[in-house]
Amino acid sequence: MTLKFGGPRVLLQQLRETMAATLGSQERLDTIVDLIAQNMGADVCSFYVLRDDAALELFATYGLKREAVHMTTLRLGEGLVGLIASEAQSLALVDAPQHPAFAYRPETGEDPYRSFLGVPVLRAGQIMGVLVVQNLERRVFREEETEALLTTAMLMAEMLSTHEFESLIKPGADVDLRRPRTFEGAGFAEGVALGQVLLHDPRVVVTNFVADDVDEEKERLEKAIATMRMSIDDMFDRGDMQMSSEHREILESYRMFAHDRGWVRRLMEAVDNGLTAEAAVERVQNDTRARMLRQTDIYIRDRLHDLDDLANRLLRVLTSDVAVFGRKDMPENAVLVARNLGPAELLEYDRTRLRGVVLEEGATTAHVAIIARSLGIVAVGQADHIVSMCETGDDIVVDGSAGQVFLRPTPDVEATYAEKLRLRTKQQENYALRRDKPAVTKDGIEVTLLHNSGLVADLTALDETGATGVGLFRTELQFMVASKLPRLAEQVELYKEAMDYAGSRPIVFRLLDIGGDKVVPYLRATAEENPAMGWRSLRLALDRPGLLRTQVRALLVAAEGRALKILVPMVTETDEFRACANVIHREVERLERMGQRAPEKLELGAMIEVPSLLFELDDLLVHTDFVSIGSNDLIQFLTAADRANTRVAGTYDAIGVPRLRAIKMIVDASARHKVPLTMCGELAGRPVEALALLAIGMTKLSMGPSSVGPIKDMILACELKPIRAAVCSMLEGAADGSTSKVANVRELLQDWAERQNLPV
Ligand code: PEP
Ligand code: MG
Repeated sequence: MTLKFGGPRVLLQQLRETMAATLGSQERLDTIVDLIAQNMGADVCSFYVLRDDAALELFATYGLKREAVHMTTLRLGEGLVGLIASEAQSLALVDAPQHPAFAYRPETGEDPYRSFLGVPVLRAGQIMGVLVVQNLERRVFREEETEALLTTAMLMAEMLSTHEFESLIKPGADVDLRRPRTFEGAGFAEGVALGQVLLHDPRVVVTNFVADDVDEEKERLEKAIATMRMSIDDMFDRGDMQMSSEHREILESYRMFAHDRGWVRRLMEAVDNGLTAEAAVERVQNDTRARMLRQTDIYIRDRLHDLDDLANRLLRVLTSDVAVFGRKDMPENAVLVARNLGPAELLEYDRTRLRGVVLEEGATTAHVAIIARSLGIVAVGQADHIVSMCETGDDIVVDGSAGQVFLRPTPDVEATYAEKLRLRTKQQENYALRRDKPAVTKDGIEVTLLHNSGLVADLTALDETGATGVGLFRTELQFMVASKLPRLAEQVELYKEAMDYAGSRPIVFRLLDIGGDKVVPYLRATAEENPAMGWRSLRLALDRPGLLRTQVRALLVAAEGRALKILVPMVTETDEFRACANVIHREVERLERMGQRAPEKLELGAMIEVPSLLFELDDLLVHTDFVSIGSNDLIQFLTAADRANTRVAGTYDAIGVPRLRAIKMIVDASARHKVPLTMCGELAGRPVEALALLAIGMTKLSMGPSSVGPIKDMILACELKPIRAAVCSMLEGAADGSTSKVANVRELLQDWAERQNLPV
């Protein structure tokens, strides 16, 4: 049988005319399915629409029984149509009834049809329906026929979004969509933000789908791609602080996509099929978004997200919407709302106006969450469906600590949070007043307060908090935000920038601590059942000495002869530390052989965060210049409670007697060996916990920048010696009369805090 395949351009023109004609809704749909069937030489063309109740309803058909229209429904995932909708993927079959997902619907009379081609009807990555053609005889659908049907499906999606079909698709649409809404998400970065919604990527609405002149559209597309590429290059040339090395790496991946031949070819093909340049971008973008929906690999999703973002930029160029990069009209208190956001995109916004970020997706460990935290921007993720429910300019309140978002808040919610914010701001001002005051207790015990850091962009906080240095620079962040392994030169650049910024303030670089929840997908080996206890951190570094050597080399070169402190993470046995130290010393020798300056002083430290090391402290401490406790890991391993699992992470009090005794073992051993000791886990940044650490003799605490003020205030108000005595006697199991009324260390400390009026 010879098939008439009229070609997509002819079909698009015909469909355009049908859409403009004065017809009733059903008549219009019926005409459209007839046209598609004729054009594609199909015996059947059916159009299914996804309703609000997740059922796919047959809306129009040519070839199947007309009585089935608006009667036949399939659930998502049910039958071939349901499968296409749930997977957002096309399906071409020569013999459809043989497919395991085939669901027979007698009322449609479709049993004699063998060949089947179905495509998802997508709009902005959301599934809206399914378009199907079928033939009686066996027919192999060619790739260009699938393409043509996908292009047609775009037009159907556009048509569905017009008012004409609204009442058919959303039976309950007359509810008040603008009412206040609360979203229970996940807290990504703590704090409170009040402001106005700024939708990241308000959708560029493509209204003109069918090209009048294909050559002209090609030219427009080519020009727009060139403009977009140029604007990426411009971004590289902009050398402000926000444009730090990590940001540049992400832009590198955009640049790579912008020059990707496959991507450009698919855009051009879509124009060849009769679409306008902007419709072509949307057509290819639909594929990307559909792939993103299906993709479970976080790394690939991130890359697809980059590609989606790039397509948006291209659309903006084509529609002369707003600047491709950089956003100028930000409100004073902007709260960015997005489905998802790449770290580079976040860095593009003016930080002085950005109060908060709300995402529909993301995990606490997502790169964007890490960056929001390190920049002190309040952030909440997993706020389901928020993008479709808000508009730029809506009032919004974000509670990053509780993970809650209040969209169009009621006056009482707004007033409560405005008061919270006022108090926080006042506190911040007070902290700033004491910025240069040393952290010394009332009874003269001096405490060193340091920052945990990891990006160049967050080092500026050093000047704001008055911390005396960086106790932990998490070098893995650079690796986590990059799309590929950072090269030696890129690592050197980051470390040098960090050292330059820190100046005379000490900065401790922790060697790569990847694995566990710190995903660096381009380095990942096979999936592990228990990654927190898997091939990670120092184990990985010793197995892959090339990676370790490169990093050490980068640190040595960046130091340019200055003093250098290197911290080794996840040490489980002293020998591992020594093996790592050997690699470092060999690199120093190599550097000298090459005539370059070695650091004037090189200090090597070990993280104590694996319990086994507690029983080898006297061996370890003769080999280390300093040590640092990673309480986040140490406590999770001591209690066998996953730090990232909210269900169990809080079950055991971190300052419970057994945990504090373990930490005190380290304090005592480092005092015996006169090896400086720092705490760089989360404990150091929480007032009651920090008090517990001071009480057992710790005097160096490294924490997130926002904790420095509150901890310093607690120290300044505190008379430590009596608290020390009380806590130590409790740890020794000798509860005296004064402490008998309290059940545990926390209560004991709260009691003391009350007596001394400490701000905890
Ligand atoms: C820790 O484990 O306490 C620590 C500081 O390191 P990280 O949180 O990066 O594992
Ligand atoms: Mg750790």
